[in-house]
Amino acid sequence: MSSLDPSTATPLPQWIGIRAQRHGDRLALTFIDDDGGTTQWTYRELWSRVCELAARMPQVDQDQPRVLLLFPPGLEFVAGFFAAQVAGWVPVPTCYPKPGRVMERLDSAARDCHPSAILADAETLAGMDPAKLCDEARGIPHLATDASPPPHAANAATNGIDPHSLSIDPESLALLQYTSGSTSRPKGVMVRHRNVMANLEAIRRGFQISWMDDDPNESEIGVFWLPFFHDMGLIGGLLASLYMGRSSVFISPRAFLQRPLRWLQLISDYKATISGAPNFAYQLCIDRISPDQTDSLDLSNWRTAFCGAEPIMPRTLSDFAHRFSSCNFSANSFYPCYGLAEATLLAAGGNGPAEPRFLTVTRDKLSEGLVEIQPEGRGKAFQKLVSCGSAVDQTELLIVDPQTLSVCDERVIGEIWIKGASVTAGYWNRDEENRQRFAALTADGRTGFCRTGDLGFLDDGQLYVSGRIKDVVILRGRNLYPQDIEATVRETLGSEGGKCAAFSVDGPRGEGLAIVAEVPRHSDESAYPEWVRSIRRTVIDVHEVDPRSVLLVRPATVPLTSSGKVQRHRCRKMFDADEIRYKYRYDRKFLSEQ
Ligand code: ATP
Ligand code: MG
Repeated sequence: MSSLDPSTATPLPQWIGIRAQRHGDRLALTFIDDDGGTTQWTYRELWSRVCELAARMPQVDQDQPRVLLLFPPGLEFVAGFFAAQVAGWVPVPTCYPKPGRVMERLDSAARDCHPSAILADAETLAGMDPAKLCDEARGIPHLATDASPPPHAANAATNGIDPHSLSIDPESLALLQYTSGSTSRPKGVMVRHRNVMANLEAIRRGFQISWMDDDPNESEIGVFWLPFFHDMGLIGGLLASLYMGRSSVFISPRAFLQRPLRWLQLISDYKATISGAPNFAYQLCIDRISPDQTDSLDLSNWRTAFCGAEPIMPRTLSDFAHRFSSCNFSANSFYPCYGLAEATLLAAGGNGPAEPRFLTVTRDKLSEGLVEIQPEGRGKAFQKLVSCGSAVDQTELLIVDPQTLSVCDERVIGEIWIKGASVTAGYWNRDEENRQRFAALTADGRTGFCRTGDLGFLDDGQLYVSGRIKDVVILRGRNLYPQDIEATVRETLGSEGGKCAAFSVDGPRGEGLAIVAEVPRHSDESAYPEWVRSIRRTVIDVHEVDPRSVLLVRPATVPLTSSGKVQRHRCRKMFDADEIRYKYRYDRKFLSEQ
């Protein structure tokens, strides 16, 4: 079972069945609920739940029928996911439901992929108000995974399904993964079984983790709180763990967000070796865990701390390493990486965890699309970037000029293009977009690339991501990256600052910059004009642009995806439609208007 060719690879559900036969007693999954209750499944128990559920899936006369998965955090999702695959359905992970509420992410997935069934736990189904569901999700069978099984299904659970007898085509769809919806409505990425296997193998090689089957003494343990309906939590957390034969511990995203210490405490308690999250989670630990709470933490086993899914702030990594070094966290454990649902998950990363590589460049040049490296550069004229490693196993990565389509030299910013075994079959039902994005051709005739829509450059073969094409604010020919402006604003507001969005707005004098920044609910309103003045002062100072509008708003006003990413386009639409409720608003007056 140690060597693997992803193009002919046994799809993951079969692997799990084979593991259940070979190492059935090995612990696979632990879920700790918000009250501290624990559920644990061995590989055998997992497989038996999968077999039982697969036997209960309805028979439909349809090619690759889609089934929406609607689960609160917990192990039921895992059973539902693999049972759907085993029974020939395509699982579509969606958000976890809140009783009686309209669920935007669910509805938009249902309208897009026309599911033929919904899988959920009994409590969720009982709490769902059919009137709040869109038509596509209403009139279809709703199946409770934890209802007591009919005799034929119970029989399947006891005797199991022989994994060798399953015929799952590696070319068939393993799942529809909806993107986060940072830049537009979430799109359903068609991930094939062979893509999943190729990417899991790329992750294993990137992280440099050996097979548990080869070395039973190897005790890699994962700890995760990321939701299963996003690619990082599903592929990087859950599936990678089962692929490698590890044991992993899960808690809910809410448990982490309410008390970030819980994440690190679990890593410490379970002597976890692998865990990871987007940048914001590391920052939350820095901001919300006080030094006197860290005495009992031992992070010395945490060998792989991956960080990706959104821009990585060099400052966050250094601050985190510094702050938790007293708990034996080592900066050598970091694994900064770049990934996207279109490539299943991981597209670029290091060869094993290592101390992050930083590059200091001139800010001015960066805004002209050029990279001028200044190793000694300090202060606001310079910017530090983190290396996201290089293209992972079986992946080719190019930087391409998005206008001329010619391949860029090192140290020139262009669009990141990727090709390889992990690149998926495109978006569900979007043929035109797929032709443009998934079958791209460079000016010198290299074919079959996927255009990521992200910008970056290579230096010494290392990838540095600078932003997204759609979000770049172009002012007087200069490219400004909103996440950098937002970081400046957050730094200016310090502990008073919350989420922030920077985007371009149209006006009679051309494009300008608008900033929407959250401030605490109970802050001193008389200070607002001064806060805006200092935001303007620092943004002018660092980015050489005077914002045209600055809005101070209540917490939870800036629109976010369910994975916590800022939706700048949506914010801009709200701004244009005057839909943002602000506490204080500044608009620059032009001389002629005064
Ligand atoms: P949508 O495609 O619906 O607008 P999304 O792109 O945020 O949403 P995901 O596939 O979940 O959906 O996220 C992938 C994106 O996250 C990448 O395309 C990139 O913009 C960003 N990203 C991932 N890793 C990094 C990184 N290391 N640095 C900067 N950005 C990153
Ligand atoms: Mg995207």
